[in-house]
Amino acid sequence: MKKSIGIDVKKPKKKCEDARCPFHGTLSVRGRIFVGVVKSAKAQKSAVVAWERQFYLKKYERYEKRLSKVQVHVPGCIEVNDKDTVKIAECRPLSKTKRFVVVENESN
Ligand SMILES: [Zn+2]
Repeated sequence: MKKSIGIDVKKPKKKCEDARCPFHGTLSVRGRIFVGVVKSAKAQKSAVVAWERQFYLKKYERYEKRLSKVQVHVPGCIEVNDKDTVKIAECRPLSKTKRFVVVENESN
């Protein structure tokens, strides 16, 4: 059964057996949501997602661009490739570095 994950995203068409999937498993998402670009999708069920943020420089009274980068979990029902735009949501720590999960691939 497809359940709502509490945020407004397109539900994946595929089904999966991944327990760490917010749609078909038991993983719940809460906290922050970001939209970023996939930098690397080489590892199985993992990807690196980065997005730009503005950092204020007091001395120059201007903003500079800085990059936020996180490791994310890719559930079995969502496919990601390099340079895809994805929506990620914060979840419980899944491994040493993964605290986010992909909830939607906006490039597909
Ligand atoms: Zn799934």
